[in-house]
Amino acid sequence: MNCLICGSSNIETIDTVVSDFVMARINSRFTPGSNYKTKLCFCRKCSFAYYDYRLNKEEEYNLYKNYRDETYQKTREYYECWYTKKVNEIINSDEIALKEQQDLIKSMLFNITDKEIKIALDYGGNEGKSFVDEIGTRKKYVYDISGIKPVNGVETISNHLDLKSYRYDFIMCNMLFEHLSYPMVDMKKLWDIGDEDTIFYIEVPSENPFIKGSKFSLSKNLKLAFNPTYNFYKLAKYYFKIFQGPFMPMKEHINFFTEKSLKKMLEMSNFKAIAVCESNRNSKLGNSKVLSALFNKI
Ligand SMILES: [Zn+2]
Repeated sequence: MNCLICGSSNIETIDTVVSDFVMARINSRFTPGSNYKTKLCFCRKCSFAYYDYRLNKEEEYNLYKNYRDETYQKTREYYECWYTKKVNEIINSDEIALKEQQDLIKSMLFNITDKEIKIALDYGGNEGKSFVDEIGTRKKYVYDISGIKPVNGVETISNHLDLKSYRYDFIMCNMLFEHLSYPMVDMKKLWDIGDEDTIFYIEVPSENPFIKGSKFSLSKNLKLAFNPTYNFYKLAKYYFKIFQGPFMPMKEHINFFTEKSLKKMLEMSNFKAIAVCESNRNSKLGNSKVLSALFNKI
């Protein structure tokens, strides 16, 4: 499969499978051992990494429906023993990571503009928690199809066609593109709902399984065992299991960005980058790195 971002055929691949947990969510008849095969791919031209198995609409729906509810947590713990109820609850209410995300968005946005951001949209933003007061002073919209109730002061748009009924000063999209089967299709959708004055913001994890010393390295993961959130025994058991199996079975993150590939995605979608940066992100579950881009239409 050619690179999903730049179209190059210069791709390095590693054979692997779809993880047990994702299989169980997308295929009700799944039994361990009957996992779909896939390849983890790396584009030598733009450095984008991805799996060549792409979820279809129905599989995507089944994987993400009632995301992180009790059924999700129990199924996940069954296959990934470290994913306890406590871990799930912390991910659902991590105010440390949320505050850092809000501060980053504010600093990038208000570094480049002193214009009031009156109408703002959080594309794919669940209940709209990422908003701060200064963003969307007149109206805060969230585009979300899960049916989750928005937080106070935020209005949900659940139909994609309705997105075009408004004009936005700012459109943000946080921690979504690493999950999307067809990222370029969603970039086109973003392009369609903004105008020449709209400022856009995307945030994704900074991770690449093909780069040594990345978050996927054994030493980085062993550090997690000393985080009190995790059960040391369960985490050790889990890593023992996965190091015996195929390399990095496909989980929820199916796209892995670098600064270079994120810039390429903007360029290929007719956007112009204003600023792209990598930052540290502290969270209750451990520290990570995120990439964020501020951009507008060409
Ligand atoms: Zn590429």
